[in-house]
Amino acid sequence: MNFTAQVPQMLALLCRLVETESPSRDKAAVDRVGFIVADECRRLGADVTIHARAEAGDLVEARFPHPQPLSQKREREDGILLLAHMDTVFPLGTLEKMPFYEKDGKVYGPGVSDMKGGIVVALTALASIGTGNLPRPVTALFTPDEEIGSRASRAVIEKLAKESALVLVLEPGMVDGSVKTWRKGVGEFRLTVRGRAAHAGGDHEQGRNAIEEMAHQVIAVQKLTDYARGTTLNVGVVRGGIASNVVPDEAVAEVDLRVMQPGEAERITAAMQALKPVLNGTSVEVTGGLDRPPMPLDDTMKATFAKAQAIAARHGIELKAGGTGGASDANFVAPLGVPVLDGLGPAGGEYHSEREFIFKDSLPERAKLLTAILLEW
Ligand SMILES: [Zn+2]
Repeated sequence: MNFTAQVPQMLALLCRLVETESPSRDKAAVDRVGFIVADECRRLGADVTIHARAEAGDLVEARFPHPQPLSQKREREDGILLLAHMDTVFPLGTLEKMPFYEKDGKVYGPGVSDMKGGIVVALTALASIGTGNLPRPVTALFTPDEEIGSRASRAVIEKLAKESALVLVLEPGMVDGSVKTWRKGVGEFRLTVRGRAAHAGGDHEQGRNAIEEMAHQVIAVQKLTDYARGTTLNVGVVRGGIASNVVPDEAVAEVDLRVMQPGEAERITAAMQALKPVLNGTSVEVTGGLDRPPMPLDDTMKATFAKAQAIAARHGIELKAGGTGGASDANFVAPLGVPVLDGLGPAGGEYHSEREFIFKDSLPERAKLLTAILLEW
């Protein structure tokens, strides 16, 4: 099946989704995308369930039932789960300076790549197959809060993933079209150092400088980085003090953690908890930890990618494997042992920036790829 003829329709839907801006923290805005997506799914014959959320947009779960009735158990084990998020990192009004447009084979706009293009690919593939012709039951889950940690979605993602034979995530493909076969795990720590305030001129000796103590801690934290294991710590924010003539009594640091290997997050968290003050009369408090576990390139991932690559090859598509230090909802699926492939959305780049784009040709290519996987897995 060739999707070239569908490109105008795909672009029209993409335009509609992009022009419905949906920053993660604006529930009403994300829900407007939810209405469009739920409507499209119902039109395709899905049973749509809305998981209402007060603190985020609602989740849209669309079940495309198996044409032949199966036992409940078999239906669950055989199913494929499609995962897509509806929120973007861009605030309302971004469209005014960053409109949806097409130029020189690229399509631009807020969320065009991350990941409204992926939503279009999923809906186009499902429409082309037709609900009655799906060889396996398919569930598509559209979530409202991936860009801010998926707290409102994680439990539903994990529940549906456990019931599935395969999970396909519609995050953007890499700029060369590679899918993501590994992602680092991500965590965050907050360090609070307390000292004792004093006048810098009259009472210097009595002060305990929290910023001086923080300097020791910053070096200790950065040293936990281990490139060979793919583990990095980045002290990204430091705050403290009120004036140069006051010995500061508090300093705060925010630290980003990335891990590649299972077990590393536990090791680093223990090391962070064990940090001790260097200067007398100061204290160190550490909070935080791992938010998303790593998605390693393990045997399950290798087998899953090889199978997808073979299906793609039968349709003249050369599928390549890549990976990234950034996390997605695929990071919640991998530790469950469920086969997962990520980055099946259109190839593009520069996402989360005003230059975010996808290659127009990638829209029909990815629809073709996803259709082949859904039919032949
Ligand atoms: Zn995304």
